[in-house]
This record gives sequence, structure tokens and C-alpha cells, in this order.
Amino acid sequence: MIRPRERLIVVSNRLPYVFARAEGGWRTSPGSGGLVSALVPVLRNRGGTWVGWPGTAHVGPDLEEAVRAAGAEAGFALKGVALDETDVERFYHGFSNEVIWPLFHDLQSRCNFDPAYWQAYKRVNQTFARVVAAEAEARDFVWVHDYHLMNVAHELRALGSRARAGFFLHIPFPPPDIYLALPWRQVLLQALLHFDLVGFQTARDRRNFLQCLRLLPEEIEVQGKGNVVTVAAGARTLRVGHFPISIDYNHYMRQAATAQVAARAAELHKLLPRRKLILGIDRLDYTKGIPQRLLAFRNTLERYPELRERISLIQVVVPSRVDIRDYGELRTRIEHLVGAINGAYVQPGGWVPVWYVYGSLTRTDLLAYYRAADIALVTPLKDGMNLVAKEYCACSIEEDCVLILSEFAGAAAQLGRSALLVNPHDIEGVADTIHRAFHMDRAERQARMRRMRRSIREYDIFWWVDAFLKAAIAKDLAAFPAPAGEGESLVPDYVPI
Ligand code: UDP
Repeated sequence: MIRPRERLIVVSNRLPYVFARAEGGWRTSPGSGGLVSALVPVLRNRGGTWVGWPGTAHVGPDLEEAVRAAGAEAGFALKGVALDETDVERFYHGFSNEVIWPLFHDLQSRCNFDPAYWQAYKRVNQTFARVVAAEAEARDFVWVHDYHLMNVAHELRALGSRARAGFFLHIPFPPPDIYLALPWRQVLLQALLHFDLVGFQTARDRRNFLQCLRLLPEEIEVQGKGNVVTVAAGARTLRVGHFPISIDYNHYMRQAATAQVAARAAELHKLLPRRKLILGIDRLDYTKGIPQRLLAFRNTLERYPELRERISLIQVVVPSRVDIRDYGELRTRIEHLVGAINGAYVQPGGWVPVWYVYGSLTRTDLLAYYRAADIALVTPLKDGMNLVAKEYCACSIEEDCVLILSEFAGAAAQLGRSALLVNPHDIEGVADTIHRAFHMDRAERQARMRRMRRSIREYDIFWWVDAFLKAAIAKDLAAFPAPAGEGESLVPDYVPI
């Protein structure tokens, strides 16, 4: 781990607190998610700073004071990065979410390569780097998160900062033939080389990155064979590894076991009696494959009529990026399909095939859905990891249920031997797998779920933080522990052309 007096500077697009306008000031509430719960204790123990955008285009001393006060309460420093409305539009909605997000999820036809977006991306990354440079001393370790901030180390070096810096990409890294579409493909890769450690979710993402590096004019030499390798790229030397992100397994398991959650799960079974419940929970996003999943569910009902009235799909769609047109259209498509399926198969006064929820769930409801579901249908077209899959397993305390998982979720590399893997584009294949999951016997369900839960328990979010920080500072990479249990993806490797 980081030695005493070496502080950790975490940098992410958003601060780990949400700031909302309230009468006479700002209301502050803690952000949610595994990253926040894993890093907050490390920052508290080691001392350090979290740098990020407070989530509002408002700039002023009152907000700065609210950010400072939230940090004082949390036990570490918070530094807000001010972004104006144009920045948010071009850097966040633009370059991050209309260029990198679709491209890195292999959907280049959805990209809008507007040159103004790239200028904003560079400018905002520079703004982040200035705030970090003012904080970080040479002995500190800067940990930058995700695709919004890939230029930060490059900008830090330009500012003369000597602090070591690591980067973790939470989303996938695409293969070269997709990455090559990016007009700024060379400068962005060269910017990443300024980090001392670059981490990916899976071996496949790492391999894609290393293959892309070979497109650079710099001579590239890769040394080592483990989960973390050393890369010499021209004058730069850095480490590159893969570290599958996870969840606070024990926390989910304990919460799922509470009486409140159990009661709510029982209520769900009472509301939807005498059938197996299939669960899908996704943010509204075109990468999640929700329409394809609904088509597969309809196909199941068509081709396996004996399952009618014996299964229901609970599909929860959590609103996301609601002000973007594509997302509105996706919602309309999903709701049209739900209506069509229910219209075709509903039994008046009885069975409804799809139970559709559009909105954020309360914590109790989320855990109750996980606990109540007999089958989870996690079928993204492409996903960095997919934490819903891991949370579902952690909450399945009876260990008597089935995970159907997309080959294209990062989680498949870890869970692919025990989940039922599917190609989410293969409507009949997914339908056949739902049929198989429905009929799977109890002993097999339990054996598979037990194996997945063991792996998630062992390689939890605290393991992930530790593994990344160790890889950043370990003197000898040969001694670096390999994440055993994380098998190679079962999907065929990318073959370069
Ligand atoms: N989630 C949530 N509110 C909800 C439903 C889900 O906060 O109403 C959480 C869920 O617990 C999970 C996260 O959203 O931690 C989704 O993470 P995932 O990696 O599956 O996908 P992402 O949305 O990050 O692409």
C-alpha cells in the first residue's frame, strides 16, 4: 500500500458528494456506488484529497464553502473543479458521451466527432490537472478515474508535476479497427503513456490497448507475462494491468439478509404468484441491450408456450442522461416493446408478462428485487464490468438462482464458467437460455451460484483498490499477486487484421 505520508489524490469527473440548491445554500448528500464506498475509507486513513466536478455549472464562494464543509465532515479534503455550461455541454455531453462512450463500446456509428468537443476535452483536462498540481506533492500518488480524464497525466507533466499518477478505465477499451476511427487516436494514446500505471477491467481491454499502442510511431516493448506488465514506449516506461472492479460483497449480503428486504421480496412473489421471476436492471443506455432482451423474452413466450403464465420479466430502467435525444428515443422503443408484449400475451385479471418500472429504486426495493428474482438477465451489448451481475449474486443468499450473462460484459471473464453466457444479439439463443435456466435443477443452480459468490467475495472492491495501488508501487512485478479465479474471457480473442 501507499507508505505513510504519501497521500492519495483521487481524481474523477464527479466529486463523491451531490450538491443540490436548497433554501439559503446547498444541500449535500453522499454519492452512491462502490467506488465511493471503497475509496472514502482509504482517503480517511491515509489522508488525501478527492478532486472532481461538484455536478453543477454554478460557480461561487457559497458552493466552494459547501464543498469544503463536506470534505471536513468526510475526513479528507474535497477540491471542486469549476466547469461552466459550455464545458459541460462540449466536454461532458460532447467528447465524453458522444465520442468516447459510444466508440469504446464498439458503436462508432453513434459517434459525433465534432472538433470543438476535443478542444473542450483538452481544456477541461487541463483545468483538472491545474487543481491536482496545486494539491499533489512529488511523493503523493494521483489516481485518475475513467474516460473523462485521459489527458490529465499529460497535462500534469506539462505543468511540471512529478507526482506519480495512475489511471483506471472503468469502461471497455476497443480493438484497433474500432479505435482507429478516432480523429485524435494518436495524441490520446500518447497522453495515456504519461501515467505510471494504466489499469483496465479485463485482459481483453488490456490487450486491445497494447495492440493500439503498436500503431504509434514510438517503439513499443512489452515485458512480463502476468496481470501487470511493463511497457517501454519511446522515452516513457509505464505499467499496464487489468483489475476487475467489484462490489462490497459483505455489505450487500448482509443488507439482503435483513427482515425488511426479506419481507419486500416475499411481497413481490405474492404480487406475481406461481411463476419464476426474471430480472433486468439497467440504466437507460443503448449499450445495455434492453430492446434485444425484450425481443428475446417475447421469443421465449412464442417458442416455448408452456412457459406462458409461468415466468414474468421484471424490467427496471433507471433514468439516465435524460436530456439527450437518443436516450429519449430508446425509452420510447423500450416502452413500445413492453406494450406490444403485454398486449399480445396478458391474461385479463391474471398474468402480466412484463412488469416494467421506469425510475430509480429505493435501496430496499433494489435488494428485494435481487433477492426475489429466480433468474437475472444481464445482457449488455458491451459493458466495462456490470456491477448489477455481481450485486445479484451477492444478494442471492439462498444460492438458488441463475445468472444469464452477456459474453460482452467484463464480468463474463470472471463469472463465465458458472453463469449461462449468451450473445445478446442472438435473440433465439437468449430465449433458449431462458428456457434452460427455467428448467435447470436445483443442485446445478446452487453449485453454479456458490462458485460465483465465492469468487466475488474473494475479489471484492477492497481487493480491487489494494491490487491497483500495489501494482502502482510494487518494486518487483514478479511478486505481484495474480488475481486467481479471474479466468480469461471465454470469448474468442480479438484477432488483429
Ligand atoms: N442502481 C442504482 N439505482 C437503481 C438501480 C441500480 O443506483 O435504481 C445501481 C446498481 O446497484 C449498480 C449501478 O446502479 O451499482 C449500475 O452499475 P453497472 O456497473 O451495472 O452499470 P452502469 O450503470 O455503471 O453502466
